[in-house]
Order: sequence, then C-alpha cells, then structure tokens
Amino acid sequence: MDAIVGLCKRRGFIFQSSEIYGGYNGFFDFGPLGVELKKNLKDAWWEDMVHRRDDIEGLDSSIIMSPKIWEASGHVGGFSDPMVDCKASKMRYRADQLFYSPVIVDGNTIGYVSVLEDHSMESDAQAAAEKLKRKNGVQGELAALSLKEYTEADASEYDLIPSPATGEPGSLTPPRDFNLMFETKVGALSDSTATAYLRPETAQGIFANYKNVVDTGRVKIPFGIAQIGKAFRNEITPRNFIFRSREFEQMEMEYFISPEADWKSMHREWIDWCKNWLVSIGLPESMLGEDVHPQDKLSHYSRGTTDITFQFPFGEQELWGIACRGDFDLTQHQEHSGKSMEIFDESSKSKYIPHVIEPALGVDRLLLAALTAAFTEDEVGGEKRSLMKFHPRIAPYKVAVLPLLKNKPELVDRAQSIYRKIQRKHTAFWDASGAIGRRYRRMDEIGTPWCVTIDFDTIEKDGTVTLRDRDTTEQSRISEDDLLSLLEDRLF
Ligand code: ATP
Repeated sequence: MDAIVGLCKRRGFIFQSSEIYGGYNGFFDFGPLGVELKKNLKDAWWEDMVHRRDDIEGLDSSIIMSPKIWEASGHVGGFSDPMVDCKASKMRYRADQLFYSPVIVDGNTIGYVSVLEDHSMESDAQAAAEKLKRKNGVQGELAALSLKEYTEADASEYDLIPSPATGEPGSLTPPRDFNLMFETKVGALSDSTATAYLRPETAQGIFANYKNVVDTGRVKIPFGIAQIGKAFRNEITPRNFIFRSREFEQMEMEYFISPEADWKSMHREWIDWCKNWLVSIGLPESMLGEDVHPQDKLSHYSRGTTDITFQFPFGEQELWGIACRGDFDLTQHQEHSGKSMEIFDESSKSKYIPHVIEPALGVDRLLLAALTAAFTEDEVGGEKRSLMKFHPRIAPYKVAVLPLLKNKPELVDRAQSIYRKIQRKHTAFWDASGAIGRRYRRMDEIGTPWCVTIDFDTIEKDGTVTLRDRDTTEQSRISEDDLLSLLEDRLF
C-alpha cells in the first residue's frame, strides 16, 4: 500500500486534499494522471452500461435535492453508523470496526484487549493479550481470544475495554448512532426549514426521476437508469487512502423489473455481468470474490445483497454492491410525494410498481483496485523496474512518442507530426529528453502501454517506427501508416 500511495503522489495520480494546509482528512484531489485514469474508468463503464445496451438510459441529477427525498428514502432516520468516542484522546471510532475480547488466564478474566478492524487484527489482539499477561505478572494458560464487535459489548464492559488510542480502559463511551449525511443550508434563511443534505448516494436521484424517464422515453420493463456522480458521507473513520473517503463518486444503475420476475436469477445475472466487466478492464478474476450478506445484516431496503469484493493491499473488501431493493424506494416515494410510481406493462397488460436490482460501484474504490491490480515490480536486463500494467482501455496515456534525439530537427519534426496524428484519437505523451531507456522506464511507471520511437531509419530509410510494448519490453518495427490502425485494434 505504501508503494502505491508513494507512486500516486510522486507521479501525480492522487494528492491529499488541502495539502498545503496540512491536509483534510477524507478528501482527495486527482492529479494529471489520476484524472485521466478516473475519466477512462467512468467512460468505460458508461460505454458498456449505457451506450452498448438498448435497455439502459443515462441521467444526471442534482447533488442537493429536496430534503423530503431523504426522509422518504429512510436516510434522515436511519443512514447512520454506530460511533464510539474516546473521552481521553478525543478520537472517534466506528463501533462496528472496533473489536474487543476478554483476556482469560486459567479461567480468570485479567482484563480486556481492543483492536481496530484490519487484516492483522487477530495477531495484534493476541500480542496485546500476551503483553497484558506479562504486565500483570500472571502465570498460566491464556485461553483463545474471542473477538467481538464493540456494538455487541455488554453495558458492564464499556468501562473495561481499553481505548485503541491510549491502551487504557475507562474512556470509551457506549456506541451511539451517527448520521453520515452532510447537512447544508439552502436559501437566505438559516432556520431548520433551510436544512438540506449533500446526497449520500446517487440512487435516490434516479428514483426521484424514474417517472420522468418513463413518461418521456420509450422504455419498457425491464429497463435501467444509470448515473455517475459525486456522493458525500461524513464517514467517522475515513481510511485506507481513497477506499473510504468523505467525498467520492459513484456509478449506480437501477434496473426496474416486474414484481413477478425471477429476481434471484436476474440478481445473479447482474453479479456475473459486473464481474465480467471488471475482468474486461484488467482486474484479474483471481483477485475478485463474492460476499453474500446474511439475511439479518441486510440494509433496511434490501431483500438480498451480494458484494463483489477485491483483494486490496489491506485485505479483501467490498468493491461493488449488488442489491435487490424490491419496491422499497418507489413505494416510499409514492407514499411521501402522493405521486403514482406505477408503470403500465404492455406485455402483461398490468399496472404495478416495479422492483429494482441495483449494482452500485464506487469510482474511487475501483480506481484503487485498478492501481492495486496494475502495480508490478520485475527485472529487465538485471535492473529492477516498477510498472503499472493498466489495461490499455483505462491507461492514462495510450502511447508515448519519443524522437530518438532531441537536437535533430528532422527527427523531432517527424515525431511531432506522428504525435499530432495520434493525439487526434488517443491520449499521447510527448517526451524528447533523456536516454531512451530512461524514457521507457518513465512510461512503464505510469502505465503507458506503448512507446513509439522515431529514429534515423524512420526518416532516411523505410518510414518505419519502433513500437515498444510495456509489459514484454519487446520492440518491433512497424510502418507509420499501420501504426494508427494497430493502436485502434489493440485498444478496442
Ligand atoms: P461500506 O460498507 O464500505 O461503507 P456501503 O455498503 O455503505 O459501503 P453502498 O452504500 O452500497 O456502500 O455504496 C455503493 C458503493 O459506493 C460501494 O460499494 C463503494 O464502492 C462505494 N462507497 C461507499 N462508501 C464509500 C466511501 N466512503 N468512499 C469511497 N467509496 C465508497
């Protein structure tokens, strides 16, 4: 993870927001390469989800909407995480990410240990328990620890569980609900009637416009509405770089189906579609998994949810949630707005409120997954090399154009003309200075799949250029005329 974060900063993918003022926790800025990568991910999703399908339409709804939407959707009442404060250090934690266990030696409880959720939390807890045993000078057999979420703690245990900040018990509060929506004020008045929210998900903008799309388009069941846009959550503990941030982007699609449809098999089809799509943009199947939510842990709106997980450097975590929301949202909006959300289904000649399947993906999380999957270290000619093996479709730059020497105007002019030609169709990078080997390495590190080198053969002999492949480092000669069509073929 440190290597990825370091590369992101060094090469201009991602910066901490407000860095010159010491940073701002949970917010990030995307630099010249990051913005290209992000755009390519969004474009690929939009092309495949909207443009190349006949049953899905696009939408772009506002970030701030009537607060009534968030009352109807249940977010005002229930979009919260359990929070726990440490009174001594003023740190805040998510109670469902704080784990504790009694430490039992020869049947006697000698104290408690606590750890924050992490892939190494079990071994961290074990080490803390052994330390406690030594500190208390206790002999005997340490019983196996049984880590539980702080949300499951008994009231009598709150004072006994040590704070992860201080290591001492007595300062943790009981868990309480903390609403994750950012509030703002709209209009000149600042009383409670002016309170509005930054959307915590893009989905509600889709539900609120579903009737508009039905009435103005030619959609018929089953059909989907897709949206890409910013979402905001006042996360208690933003962490793991851009994995959990307070401002992020989502790509969500609501797929409206008949209440009579076999939603379980349609759910499965969407899970497969999403997995295949991730593989198609370069995430290895071996790094993907599925997490089926148990019935008693489902969100208030869900009848069934499966997350596609990814092996991030800090462990296997949710990347893409695919939820069956039933008719929860549309029914709520019908009740709260008084407007009918029914659709007339031509095929069955019946009227109903459709049910919904929702694949919801975070752009930033996808970007982190793409960086993780691409990050590679190998050796070329006895030298260590770090490269980003991005799928060409998402690589920030597709091609670098390199004149062999920068002080030979004939080479530079010819290279410039090739560069301008490529640039009309693809993102291309111009680099004329430094040894050619070093220039190749620079492109490897930012994941440019191909380098095109213009040398004396190009201008004096046969008009061919050198095409160098990032992953294999193989070089081949190709005519300038064939170059563009070859790039086209390999990119799509
Ligand atoms: P988590 O359990 O990780 O908080 P969630 O289940 O609340 O996520 P959803 O409400 O299903 O997430 O949101 C859909 C997608 O949006 C997630 O799968 C994830 O990719 C992305 N996402 C959610 N919260 C964040 C966040 N704070 N930062 C970045 N991406 C996020």
